[in-house]
Formats: sequence, structure tokens, C-alpha cells
Amino acid sequence: MQWDNYWTKEKLKFHDFIYDSGKLHIKAEMISLKGSCPSCGQESGKVHSHYERSIADLPCFGAFCELSLLCRRFFCANESCNRTIFCERLGSVAKAYARKSSRLMKSIKHVGFKVASYAATQLCNCLGIATSATALDRYLRSHELQSFETPRVLGIDDWAMCKGRTYGTLLVDLEKQKPIDILEGRDASVLAEWLKDHPKIEIISRDRSGEYALAVNQGALQAIEIADRWHLLKNLREMIERYFQGNTKTIQLAYQKTLELKGGIHVPEPNLSSRKELEKQEKRQKRLGRFDEVHKLHQQGFSNSQIAKQLGMSRGTVIKYLASKEFPEQQARGSRLGKLKPFIQQLNQRFVEGCHNINQLWCDIQEKGYEGKRAMVKRYVHYLKSPSKEQLNVLACPRFRKPTPKLLSYALLKPTEFLAKDMQNMFEQLSLIANDFEAFKAKSIAFDKMIKER
Ligand SMILES: [Zn+2]
Repeated sequence: MQWDNYWTKEKLKFHDFIYDSGKLHIKAEMISLKGSCPSCGQESGKVHSHYERSIADLPCFGAFCELSLLCRRFFCANESCNRTIFCERLGSVAKAYARKSSRLMKSIKHVGFKVASYAATQLCNCLGIATSATALDRYLRSHELQSFETPRVLGIDDWAMCKGRTYGTLLVDLEKQKPIDILEGRDASVLAEWLKDHPKIEIISRDRSGEYALAVNQGALQAIEIADRWHLLKNLREMIERYFQGNTKTIQLAYQKTLELKGGIHVPEPNLSSRKELEKQEKRQKRLGRFDEVHKLHQQGFSNSQIAKQLGMSRGTVIKYLASKEFPEQQARGSRLGKLKPFIQQLNQRFVEGCHNINQLWCDIQEKGYEGKRAMVKRYVHYLKSPSKEQLNVLACPRFRKPTPKLLSYALLKPTEFLAKDMQNMFEQLSLIANDFEAFKAKSIAFDKMIKER
């Protein structure tokens, strides 16, 4: 049997197909008469010996597929060549020394580039392609990058190889919307060198980092620089967030007023674990200490990066701390009710109906799937017994959680009709309490509109 165009260039002669325990073995050999020496390129038909090469190929009928190729060794016909014997090359079938066929490698890389390595490995194994995560990682790293034409419009941004630790610089052809290169580090010198090698760039879109500005000045004076829209909007949102971070007391006041409008008063969720409360206090003390230290170092004239390095914290946190005059309290994350949380509504309901018996309540929620301790139920019932009637109102009505500065910063730029009623009330209260809020809001929205529409 002979399939001429099985691979576009190479002709293979098939001898046998053997199916054995989920694996298909295909015996074949190359039928070209001559091989060419990889060192000098001269063709030779003088066979030295034969050997068998096993090459994994694309799965066939859902089975792993292995090509057993009978290959030849040739004598090199060129007397001045330093290689006397060479192995037959398989052309587009597989690379020299490869254990997988080129088209199988192509498929694996396809999956690998689209999906993260562990998921890609599992997917490949499901599809009848045997590989491991480490091998896949190796394939992707060894992938040869395609050459690119110098773009007319270049986008420059930093790119995290390991977030918070090592960064590179990503270069994108903005007209073709394709990344073309990644440089190591975010330093001006590396980028400037690259830009000098590609003098045909006309427009450069970048964020407003000083290093990149310097690099463009050194390496691409001919190019027009533009600040990219995404970064401008990001800067805007961060500035709004910083404004809210610096006004935590105002936000707290506005929040309480909003809750009062809802017909309740602010009751923090009970903390049913005393150990966690202690941990929380310790962490808060630690943060407070660092907050003071950041301000002290700033007054001594250290830069943000230096402070971050010295205290072992991120630059973002340093900026956040310096922007706010008072210590930004952290909002309680997640629930402090633990396993009881899904049953709170039911417990409240039963409590309001008059059932205060801990054992009874515990049994009730156990039937619904509660797996926590009785002590949690006990503490919660004690908590329910302690507050006044207004607090029970709050427990009965759906809660409105205090929005974080980040959430507020996103909400501020949204059209009012897209906001939840509580958030609308919150902003109304803010404009009543803080004098500068209305002006700040108007300016932010105007800037946002200008960037998006002009
Ligand atoms: Zn040779």
C-alpha cells in the first residue's frame, strides 16, 4: 500500500497495522532512494545499516498511535565532510531526534497555548495524546517565535511573568492586534535598544510610566506618542478609589444614613469565633504599625519604591497608605458566621416566630444539612437574644453591605439608572455630607466621557 500524499513531501510505504491494548502500531519505511547529509548537504544512496524509530503520531480511531519507521544510515559521499555516516532525516514527518511527529507537536502546542498546562495535559490525554505537564511546558518554551514585520503602530505595556515579582515588556502590533515580542524587564535601556533596531515605527501607544517615556525618547524620536485609553481610564478609576480611601469616615456616615433610610441600624455580623476575632485584632495592629511607618519614611524623603522595598510590601499599598490621612480600616471579608451562614435566614425566621430553644433550632438546621457545631448555634441564639428590636428588623430585612472604596469607584462612573437603589441612596447621602463630592463626581464623569466619546 502506498499513500502518495500522506504527508505533503515525504513518501512512506506502509507495511502493517497492529492494534494492541489500546495502541495502534503502524509499521512503515521511507521510500526515497537517497538521503542528504545534514553537515554538507550532499545526497548519498550508499546504505550503511537500518534501524527502527518509534514516533508518536496523532491518535487514530480514538487510540494512541505509534509510527514504527524503518530508517537507514547512509555513508556520506563527500570525502571532505567530517561526517562519515549519517542517519536519514524524516523531513516534515518528524524533526531529528524527535519522539513525536511534527503534526502531533503542532496539535499539542495548539492546546497548550490555549489552555493552562495542567488542563491542557488532561485534555490531551482524553484526546488520545500522551503528554505530561512538564513536557508540555518544555514544548511551549522551545517554540520558535514567528518573525514579524516592524509595526507602524506599536503598543507597549508591562507584562507579569510572575505577578508582583518579575516583569517583562510586551510589544504589540496594534494594527494587526498581535503581540510581537517580549523583552526582559521594564527598564528603559532594553526597550530603547529594541526601538533603535526598528526605526519604522510611527505611533507608540503606552502607559505613562517614566521608564517607557525615557525609552521612547532615547530610541524612537520619530514616533508620535499617545497615552492609551485603557490606562487613562484605569488611572482615573484609581484616583477615584484613592479619594474614597481618604474619606473612610464620610463613607461610614453615609452608609449609616443609607441604612437608616432602609429602616434599620447598622449591626455588624456577629463573630462567632473568638479565636478569629483575636487574630483579626493582631493583624489590624500590625497593619496600623506599618501605616505609621510608611508615613514616617515618606516624611524622611524616601520614595514609594524604597519604602515598599524596606518594609517588604507592595508599592500599591504604600501609595494607598500615603493617599489617606487616616488609617484605612479593612472591611470584613467573607462571612464570620462560618458554616452557619446558609441557615441564617431560617434561624432568624424561627427565632422571630418564637422558637428560642437551641437544641430544637440545631436539629432543624441539621435536617437541612448543617454540619457545624451546636456551640455555633448557641452563640448565634445568644446574639439574637441580646439586641433590641430594631436590630431584629435589620436581621429580617435584606442587608446592604458597606461598599468598599473600589466598589464605589466603579459605581461612580456608572449611569445612575444602572445602580442598585441602595447605591443610589449612598451617593445621595455622600453628596449631602461631603461638600466636595458633587464637584468631584462631575469632574470624574466628564473626564470619563471625554476619553470614551471624543
Ligand atoms: Zn556530509
